[in-house]
Amino acid sequence: MYLFKGVKELRKQLRMLQTANRSFGFVPTMGALHDGHLALVRRSLAENSFTICSIFVNPTQFNEASDLEKYPRTPSKDIEMLLEVGCDILFMPFVSEVYPAEDYRKPSFDFGLLDNVMEGAFRPGHFAGVAQVVYRLLEIVEPTRLYMGQKDYQQFLIVREMIRQTGLSTQLAMHPIIREKDGLAMSSRNVRLEPGHRQKAGIIYEVLQKTKDQLSKKSIGQLKEWALEQLSVPGFRPEYFEIVDAETLQPVSSIDEEGQLIACTAVWAGGVRLIDNLFLQ
Ligand code: AMP
Repeated sequence: MYLFKGVKELRKQLRMLQTANRSFGFVPTMGALHDGHLALVRRSLAENSFTICSIFVNPTQFNEASDLEKYPRTPSKDIEMLLEVGCDILFMPFVSEVYPAEDYRKPSFDFGLLDNVMEGAFRPGHFAGVAQVVYRLLEIVEPTRLYMGQKDYQQFLIVREMIRQTGLSTQLAMHPIIREKDGLAMSSRNVRLEPGHRQKAGIIYEVLQKTKDQLSKKSIGQLKEWALEQLSVPGFRPEYFEIVDAETLQPVSSIDEEGQLIACTAVWAGGVRLIDNLFLQ
């Protein structure tokens, strides 16, 4: 596996590898890798000639300085995991490489209603930062395919919209959520959970599944109320539980509406914020 910290060096290598029939798969991450990330890397390896993974804790998408500071960082372990899985190239840039002050054009996008709900509403500026970094990384790597997880479903839709607005040719693929045995969605933040909270965290997926099971028996309002109550166990505080149209992310008022529905939630477990979602139909 090649490891690059500089944009120039990475691009030189990519140019050398580039021939007519070769495809490049790209998996951007913030490190502290787990099996969820590795599933994306494996899929990219299976579907492309070369796979590039990036590890970059992007400061512009953190709306709270303390969250950025506490974000887990395990670079040596990450490198070992990527070596083991057979990743071809790892890009681990410094902030100054991603955002060179002198010539960096900050793109601005309008995500309309997609950015006004759920993560966008509770983390102001978060998706502007996400779109900025993904745009910049795509400009650097120029991948054939970009792999992102359903775990961050709203982020996936924002990136899809950014790609549409910029006319980039990258194909975007979504990979299903990889879970722990008890159903907790794998996340870099899980290592920060207190043992007592970790033990109970499977409840988030359980509530999502039970919401799906009860879809034909209760109204949307009743389901949301029920779910918020279930998630309010000691030490846990749900920030939102929404049942929305999976394309527009706008709340729906009845189950009979056309289109796919998805339930999305964010829950504080002590000081750790967990997100999860489940397609309901
Ligand atoms: P992150 O390092 O948290 O920014 O995540 C990097 C990529 O991995 C994003 O596209 C995430 O959606 C994806 N990802 C994170 N956790 C999971 C998971 N449990 N299952 C599938 N994909 C995931």
